[in-house]
Amino acid sequence: MKQIPYWLDTAPAFPDRSGKDLPDAADVVVIGGGLTGLSTAYHAARKGARVVLVEKDKVGSGASGRNGSMCTQGITIGPAEARKRYGQERARELYDAFREAVDVVEELTHTENIDCDFHRSGRLGAVCKPGHFDGLRAKQRDLADNFGHETVVLSKSELRAELGTDYYHGALLDPLSAGLHVGKFVGGLANAAERAGAEIHERNAATGLTRLPGGGFLVETMNGTIRAQQVMAATDAYTDKSMPWFRKRLINVGSFVIVTEPLGEARAKELIPNGRLLVAHKNVGHYVRLTPDNRLAFGGRARFAPSNPASDVKSGDILKREMTEIFPQLAGVRIDYVWGGMVGFSWDRVPHAGDVNGLYYSMGYCGHGVQMATYMGRAVAEMMDGKPEANPLRGFGFPKVPVPFYNGTPWFLPFGGAYYKAKDKLF
Ligand SMILES: Cc1cc2nc3c(=O)[nH]c(=O)nc-3n(C[C@H](O)[C@H](O)[C@H](O)COP(=O)(O)OP(=O)(O)OC[C@H]3O[C@@H](n4cnc5c(N)ncnc54)[C@H](O)[C@@H]3O)c2cc1C
Repeated sequence: MKQIPYWLDTAPAFPDRSGKDLPDAADVVVIGGGLTGLSTAYHAARKGARVVLVEKDKVGSGASGRNGSMCTQGITIGPAEARKRYGQERARELYDAFREAVDVVEELTHTENIDCDFHRSGRLGAVCKPGHFDGLRAKQRDLADNFGHETVVLSKSELRAELGTDYYHGALLDPLSAGLHVGKFVGGLANAAERAGAEIHERNAATGLTRLPGGGFLVETMNGTIRAQQVMAATDAYTDKSMPWFRKRLINVGSFVIVTEPLGEARAKELIPNGRLLVAHKNVGHYVRLTPDNRLAFGGRARFAPSNPASDVKSGDILKREMTEIFPQLAGVRIDYVWGGMVGFSWDRVPHAGDVNGLYYSMGYCGHGVQMATYMGRAVAEMMDGKPEANPLRGFGFPKVPVPFYNGTPWFLPFGGAYYKAKDKLF
């Protein structure tokens, strides 16, 4: 069993971008080489800025190369909660941004010829209890009437045509959500950013940031110091202690994925005949999809623990049990991959972007970052170019996690996890 993300293992090898001399100055320095950072670098470079991106490890080594590879529509908190918090007009604007984000990913695959199996396969948001089914109908009506988003409600019996399991009690099908091969997408976006003129420096962490009196920043890195007019923090759940302001605002939660051996086309079609993406509506849910080579990828939070090699294996065992409970026909199937990664959650469960004393940022995608990170990279490039209205998250601030002395180590997660698991059992 390999303990690396399937998506990185099966993408064309990324070039080594380490060991290069850092220039003395740039217009824009981007910290972090995930989808947020690469998209910011790409879009800012296309506008003519001299861009330098520094990445602590390798491009895609954070969540961007470790996720479920689902590029789905829909806002993290759901339409009803968004309306309650922000009013209908602002909720609609936000919802539209989440939808447009998928279009932006698709557009990039075309304009930059990124061959990454992008396909609007559709997403099933499935409920696990009979009592939750009526909620799907209400949501479908709300989405159609107030958010211009057409979805289809599938009853338990109708769902049989979509899934080789009786585990779920109905689902909402969003036909426009997409699956892609995120390893190929990240690699392709990094190449596109370089073609646009951005420099990428891997294995070069930013270690300190000083605001200069006349404007701009001095960015200290492991390989030297660089002056920048503008700086973008694109480190999300991997933000280290060099940027404590963000750490106080993010709760980083481990999420884990297993991938089976290749099942062959016929067996794969028995499980998910139309190749949909599947997400279970639970507090501690799971996400499932087929890979382009007919394996089943099954992900979830499994344990409320950080990702590391030992933790990933333990979580993989839990996921395998859950997978075979849902798809008993997979008992005995070999697991070829297990990995984990960190997901950045904000306290109010929406992403946050803006600038803090001139330092730009976008993070806290709460598990919806494949499309939103890509989209927000474009938005931040616009914001840096003097267009603050390009930020669909403007005005939200970035609330601190309201736990005394919190500094980014979420010691309380196991308690929260137990609470949410109990909620899933009881309600
Ligand atoms: C297991 C898992 C499954 C997921 N599934 C999905 C999914 O199916 N769909 C979806 O939409 N979202 C999903 N997500 C979330 C999504 O992957 C993230 O929201 C998104 O990738 C965040 O991108 P990013 O570029 O902001 O951050 P990251 O990709 O995490 O990149 C941050 C980068 O910053 C670098 N860094 C940190 N500190 C420094 C420093 N000091 N100097 C230089 N570099 C630094 C890190 O090394 C890292 O590469 C999942 C996440 C995980 C972990």
